[in-house]
Amino acid sequence: MEVEEEMKIDAAARLISESRYGVVLSGAGISTESGIPDFRGPEGLWTKLDPSDFTIDAFRRSLDNPESLRKYIEMLLPMIQTLISAQPNQAHLSIAQLERMGKVRAVITQNIDNLHQKAGSSRVIEVHGTYKTGTCMSCKKKYKFEELIDMFMHEKRLLSCNCGGFIKPDVVFFGEALPRDAISDAWRYSEECDLMLVVGSSLVVYPIAGVVDMAKRSGAKIVIINMESTAKDYLANAVIHGKLGQVIVKIVKSLREMEGSDTA
Ligand code: NAD
Repeated sequence: MEVEEEMKIDAAARLISESRYGVVLSGAGISTESGIPDFRGPEGLWTKLDPSDFTIDAFRRSLDNPESLRKYIEMLLPMIQTLISAQPNQAHLSIAQLERMGKVRAVITQNIDNLHQKAGSSRVIEVHGTYKTGTCMSCKKKYKFEELIDMFMHEKRLLSCNCGGFIKPDVVFFGEALPRDAISDAWRYSEECDLMLVVGSSLVVYPIAGVVDMAKRSGAKIVIINMESTAKDYLANAVIHGKLGQVIVKIVKSLREMEGSDTA
């Protein structure tokens, strides 16, 4: 490890060690090492797909016509297959480890991929929803993801509820309101924390990028880890540019050495 990088790792570990109430904010960059592309990174989805297909209006338009709805779902299928088979990487596992060490109270995630939960984090606030469930747009009945896959792939049915309504995956589309409970939890944790660890987010998607300002205003220290500069590096007490899997493992190692911790 280079001396400058080592100093940054130790500085981040020191901030975590001194905190009493840490909260993580994660973005799509934490999951690229699990094989799920981000939006805006060099290999991001926006280099291959058109963002305007992912607005709630585009989705609603597709509902008017079964053929366009089928095409819409088929366009999403490769992404869904990737989500199903993805496994948490070292970064997700290290964050779960920080929770077990008593250093992280909650993870606010912009991701829909369920990987923090698979890694063992117990309090995950999904501000942009999840691919794991769907809700009927008419009667609000909830469906598990497996039921939706069965409907589309095996029964060859579009995602229709028994009431005749359409079942929308619980993923937040552009232009759609964010889930109210998740957002109020995210605001609360951001105001109460004394340290916010931001990982793998360009911090340009609002309103959620605003939680970093909120935490800062409430007096929290901010640590940002990302491959490239983010929109909020200027607010941070420590910024590390690098690959998350490697960087977080080093931070946890340094933290354990600092604290002489035996925690798994
Ligand atoms: P973003 O695509 O805007 O930014 C991701 C950032 O992560 C980039 O700055 C990139 O340089 C960085 N990055 C990529 N790989 C990295 C790595 N291995 N180590 C360190 N940094 C890395 O993502 P965002 O800020 O989360 O906002 C985009 C929106 O994308 C979110 O709302 C989210 O809902 C959605 N999204 C989610 C997933 C997912 O669930 N995994 C995937 C794609 C997009």
